[in-house]
Amino acid sequence: MCGDRTHPRSQVRPLGLVAWVLNMQTLLPQGRKMDAQRPPVLLVVPRWTSPNSVSQGTIQGTPFRSLRIAGALLAAGYPVHLFDQDLEERKGVSLGDGFPSDVHALVFWCNELEPLIQSTQAFYLQEKFRRLYPQRPLILGGPLIARLPTEGFWSLEGFDFFLQSQGILELPLLLRAIEKQSGFDSVPGLIRSGKRTFEGPPPPKRFRVPSEVYDIYQMLDFQGWIQKGGIFGNDRSTLITSFTQGCAKGCSFCYWRDFPPAFLEPERAVFHLKRLRNDYGVCQFHLAELDFASNRKRLLSFAQAFGREIPDGHWFSLVSVSDMAQLSPEEWDQLRAGGMAKLEFGTESGSSKSLTRMGKRHNRNQVIQVTQEATKRGIHCMHNFVFGIPGESKKDLDLSLELIHTLRTLDPNKITFTFRFFQPPFGTPLGEEALAKTKEPPRRVDRFLASRVEFGQEHLRTMPWIPPALEKRIKALVYHYLPLASSKIPIQNPKSRVLYFILRRFAHIRLHHRFFSFPFDRKLYEKNINRPLDNTYTP
Ligand code: SF4
Repeated sequence: MCGDRTHPRSQVRPLGLVAWVLNMQTLLPQGRKMDAQRPPVLLVVPRWTSPNSVSQGTIQGTPFRSLRIAGALLAAGYPVHLFDQDLEERKGVSLGDGFPSDVHALVFWCNELEPLIQSTQAFYLQEKFRRLYPQRPLILGGPLIARLPTEGFWSLEGFDFFLQSQGILELPLLLRAIEKQSGFDSVPGLIRSGKRTFEGPPPPKRFRVPSEVYDIYQMLDFQGWIQKGGIFGNDRSTLITSFTQGCAKGCSFCYWRDFPPAFLEPERAVFHLKRLRNDYGVCQFHLAELDFASNRKRLLSFAQAFGREIPDGHWFSLVSVSDMAQLSPEEWDQLRAGGMAKLEFGTESGSSKSLTRMGKRHNRNQVIQVTQEATKRGIHCMHNFVFGIPGESKKDLDLSLELIHTLRTLDPNKITFTFRFFQPPFGTPLGEEALAKTKEPPRRVDRFLASRVEFGQEHLRTMPWIPPALEKRIKALVYHYLPLASSKIPIQNPKSRVLYFILRRFAHIRLHHRFFSFPFDRKLYEKNINRPLDNTYTP
């Protein structure tokens, strides 16, 4: 039966593979890799969420991309000490005595894209660990690092190497180079401290991930990463996992467009999920993929295996509207029977002009079609919208608001939204178009990071690629009116509850009439209710 289950560590770790050093998990290579064992690596995962979220009953969860890195190091013969900052801090661990002395190199892997929290924490931890391991090389990598301008790293001090790649293949190569077994110019995507260009080739456009990388899902103790509800928003135990990476769609506005896709075969992924189901009693899985439905055969095989092996389980993932629109009603039924419970769609806009500019392959009718197919089977939908790409007009914005209204009325209980404004990603077509209209775009990494707080401010002009009035309207919509209109905040005080319902209704009226002047209602909300609304901007 599904439910919360607490396992002592000794029960869940395969003997001889995982040991505990203080609170860190130490993983040892298996099989023939044990014979050719290399010097241990300390893998540090800086937190990417604010610690305040812990007090709200949620936790950051599994550092799934960093686990792939740990798996790749193990597969290459390197023992790994895993230090997940969020997990260790929740356990009250402080950096100091008792840390392993056999560390050969330290790898700091930023799991997500959030710039400021991760980089601040990475540099904070770098200073601490540098004192503990003064002679050891420090490497910084992860998707955030891969997306920053290559020429701007020279301005950062503290790390010896920056890796602008997926790391699966490149990190073991870099460690070999540090061991003087090969040259640094053999490492794709490597920038050395103080340099402005790659030491060797750029990161590869294609690659495959050996399935043994994911064997780490059989080795680690996941107890500390179990969330309550998580993305599902209920009170059941949930684990974040990930068995694919990258995305092949190549949308012109997206940070993820240059991360090449690689998949683990579905039966193997379900094998790992089943271990988590059996050892922890967790039945809800947040599959942290970027484009889970890109291969229809793989998607259906996954659902079939999941339904067979974890019949009481459910899963969530991010999919493209264009892929889901190709499925037949029977295939939707198979997915539902195979545990599909919630989907996130990169819907982004209601304007066909904007969708084309973004490189999206769907249209408005398909958005409605897939939402209807999902909700009539009880599958929840989350639609992501972005506002303020270069060239967007008030008419495009109105078309998005119209689509949001249509979706909301389809089934308000099963449809949710995330709203964000466009932040230009370096090296992408729309990102570079926006940056070309920005006075002194911050291409030095330290300046870029410093600019993040300012960028999100509503009273400042930070999106010069769209007209000032449109920027103002978009920020008011994203920060207040759209999330308020679709919010469901439980409020105890009866008077405040009545006011909240009135203000939410008023937000609907404003959205319907596209009238956003005289924001007295917003001031009323901030003064009398002042509960945070879903806000997707993180500096
Ligand atoms: S927007 Fe979505 S589908 Fe497009 S490249 Fe990014 S992750 Fe892939």
